[in-house]
Amino acid sequence: LFLSFEGIDGSGKSTQARRLAETLRAKGRDVVLTREPGGSPGAEEIRRLVLEGDKDRWSAETEILLFTAARRDHLERVIAPALARGAVVICDRFADSTRMYQGLGRADLRGIVDQLHTLMIGREPDLTVLIDIDPGVGLGRALSRGGDEARFESFGEGMQARMRTGFLALSQEFPARFTVIDGARDMDAVAEDVARVVQAHLP
Ligand code: C5P
Repeated sequence: LFLSFEGIDGSGKSTQARRLAETLRAKGRDVVLTREPGGSPGAEEIRRLVLEGDKDRWSAETEILLFTAARRDHLERVIAPALARGAVVICDRFADSTRMYQGLGRADLRGIVDQLHTLMIGREPDLTVLIDIDPGVGLGRALSRGGDEARFESFGEGMQARMRTGFLALSQEFPARFTVIDGARDMDAVAEDVARVVQAHLP
């Protein structure tokens, strides 16, 4: 089973991905918890190239190519082998983040993102959990943990709000695999909801 978590910065998705991994492992499941951008040694190098450099170092188009290359490596080396042996793969962000941040963030490049995805990735999660949160709350959380990624600073509330709207629209575009969970509640309540939804999908 291939699961992804999506949401804006500060939504709590990474915490929830980790908690779900712990819950499933405690039940004896083979779980691979991974993340994007990154998730394999090569993809983590690409993550650093993009996220830690000057934010204007790459054009929006080049950023799409780099993140698609990173995803291809992550898929080949980590995700596909894990799924093949029957593990549950929990991925903190996947292609939906590229559809949003690169496809909608800087310019309208969704067409390019989708074409490259079809050509080089061709796979979606079985279930995508969107942790939905008010952009102001998310930004506050993201800034208060002092984001290690330079681009936190460049993401104002306007951008956060556009990404939130975009993620919600995406959940309606792919209703079969998306579940939207209200991330404004306390962590335990959110985790319970996540566990319930995932349980219903487990073989
Ligand atoms: O989810 P995580 O905190 O690891 O993301 C790191 C940063 O990279 C965040 O600021 C996120 O918004 C950004 N990002 C991006 N494009 C992606 C995925 C993440 O700009 N495709």
